[in-house]
Amino acid sequence: MSNCIFCKIVSGDIPAEIIHENDDLLVFRDLNPQAPTHALVIPRRHIATLNDMQAEDAELIGKMHLAAKAVAEQEGIADAGYRTVFNCNAGAGQTVYHIHLHVLGGRPMSWPPG
Ligand code: 5GP
Repeated sequence: MSNCIFCKIVSGDIPAEIIHENDDLLVFRDLNPQAPTHALVIPRRHIATLNDMQAEDAELIGKMHLAAKAVAEQEGIADAGYRTVFNCNAGAGQTVYHIHLHVLGGRPMSWPPG
């Protein structure tokens, strides 16, 4: 989508610090990190929200989580613990309407999130 920030990161029109990628997805560091490690896993294909995922996207969702695990290992936070989050729609804090899986770690985390 032409006006989507994350599509522009996929196309290379906006720079990002990419730390993992494959044919289906990209992982890059969040511009405004909320933890020592804060990365975003995004599909290359534009999908606005988790509500727009279909049954045929099941493999993609799985691959996004495997990418989160790979990044956690790469960042050295896998054993200590990390959090993965999809914010879906404004009420949950979604601000960019191209789905992204947050990967946060490197500090203690409380529950429930705010
Ligand atoms: P949301 O609030 O939609 O769940 O998360 C969007 C995330 O994208 C935020 O954590 C925000 O800091 C990050 N973000 C927004 N614009 C950019 C950008 O242009 N580059 C990067 N690397 N992160 C961004």
